[in-house]
Amino acid sequence: MTAYAFDPSPAPSVAITGSDDRFPVRRIFCVGRNYAAHAREFGNDDRDPPFFFGKPADTVVDSGSTVPYPSLTKNLHFEIELVAAIGTGGFRIPRDAALSHVWGYGVGVDLTRRDLQDEAKKTARPWDWSKGFDDSAPCGPLVRADKTGHPESGRIWLAVNGTVKQDADLTELIWPIADIVSICSEGVRLQPGDLIFTGTPAGVGAIVPGDKVTGGVDGIGEIEFVVGPVA
Ligand code: MN
Repeated sequence: MTAYAFDPSPAPSVAITGSDDRFPVRRIFCVGRNYAAHAREFGNDDRDPPFFFGKPADTVVDSGSTVPYPSLTKNLHFEIELVAAIGTGGFRIPRDAALSHVWGYGVGVDLTRRDLQDEAKKTARPWDWSKGFDDSAPCGPLVRADKTGHPESGRIWLAVNGTVKQDADLTELIWPIADIVSICSEGVRLQPGDLIFTGTPAGVGAIVPGDKVTGGVDGIGEIEFVVGPVA
């Protein structure tokens, strides 16, 4: 047995629908833009190939939590996303085999310190501080793909204090799940426990302390959290 200088941190994990087991999270990959209308709202070409960024695994937060309003920002944004959870690893996975690597799906929110991201884009600096801060990846319970199938359509939505802000359909994904998994695996060796946040539709916006965020993907699940006081 390996001896460590101190006890390692517990494995980050997310809930599983209908089970007491939890899904251990290894890495989190996020797609930069994957819905045409959202790409256009940031002035980008909607035919660009997908690109990825990461969040640390321990940024996951369960649905039902209070998420502290992060430091360093005055413009915290929500981005509702379908999350694909990898159950079988692979490198350079062909598109037609990609879905067999997906263990299940969930609904996540890619929280973003938009003002820091805007500054990072302007100055060509890394996105990490705008995307990978503490508690930046709320993720609802995962549901096994052998129960839901692999979603190709279905409403994806997010509301703040009951007012719908994002409302789209998975058919609007520029790159469907199989493409995303395959293309991601060209850049990294995917492993069981990896989560892929597959991009957000149009309608992103700011949230402030006290706001209640709810969202969902039809046939997959829902997520909710409250924005807490400034960390
Ligand atoms: Mn996103």
